[in-house]
Amino acid sequence: MKRSFPNSNLLTRIAVAFLVGLTLCSCSMKTSESNVKVMLLTGQSSKYHDWELSSALMEKHLNAVESFDVVKVVSPAQGEDMSDFAPSFDGIDVVVLDYEGDGWAEATKAAFKRFVNDGGGLVVVHATDNSFADWEAFNLMIGVGGWGGRGNDFGPKIHWFEGGAKLLNTPGSAMHPPKHDFEIVSRAPEHPIMKGLPEKWLHPNDEIYSRLRGPAQNVTVLATAKADLTKVSKGTENHEPMLMDIRYGKGRVFHNTLGHCNKNDDESVSSLNCVGFIVTLQRGTEWAATGQVTQPIPTDFPGADAVSVR
Ligand SMILES: [Zn+2]
Repeated sequence: MKRSFPNSNLLTRIAVAFLVGLTLCSCSMKTSESNVKVMLLTGQSSKYHDWELSSALMEKHLNAVESFDVVKVVSPAQGEDMSDFAPSFDGIDVVVLDYEGDGWAEATKAAFKRFVNDGGGLVVVHATDNSFADWEAFNLMIGVGGWGGRGNDFGPKIHWFEGGAKLLNTPGSAMHPPKHDFEIVSRAPEHPIMKGLPEKWLHPNDEIYSRLRGPAQNVTVLATAKADLTKVSKGTENHEPMLMDIRYGKGRVFHNTLGHCNKNDDESVSSLNCVGFIVTLQRGTEWAATGQVTQPIPTDFPGADAVSVR
């Protein structure tokens, strides 16, 4: 009896459906696996800041990026035993550090140093650069920092003059003018983080960290700002670095000095909800992790004339 295969079309359709299913399945798995693994590391700040508020807002901003998988790690509280605080950086692409507080155990410092040195990304935000003044590797990672024992002999300051950045060894340690609205100027328009952003934009009610000092090695200044002395009485005469690209070993570091908040602020605080802050945090985190930025510039990015706050 001649065999017939009346269901061959059906079998083919099943096979095709199965293959399509496999393809879809592997696509979605690939997307998930290729997501940027972000560790937001926080848990302490000085009396001048509020890590709970800043990290909650940054967690929201980072989670808004579809290709990010964000895990939040909270250290013991200030003054508590830090000896067992040892987050694992295995599988992490980038650490966003919102931490101004007690020193870490030597093994934790060694693991963090190894992570960045081997190519892990690092993002440091605002008061994080007040931390760990006595940790040589950390100072190299952040380029420059302030307070916490960083005096006149702590390395040069970076100032922006017409034509580029200069290192200055003149006296003067960290300060900031009172919070006010000020203009941020892009100094590296072709850098992946900055590409497509306007040359100038207005940033609301924040501190201009000034006269930060440190080893200042392997630093590219991405954006600067100068105190608006028509609004505030105190401030340096120079443009200060606000956004920086620093290289440490194989690691990329994005240093964002913006983003002040304290216990008098709430979740609507404009410095951390400025679209300029949000977008540079999101783009800087992707860049530190991958070396590239795939995120489009949102239409509500601020210009030079008005702030834009979400
Ligand atoms: Zn501050």
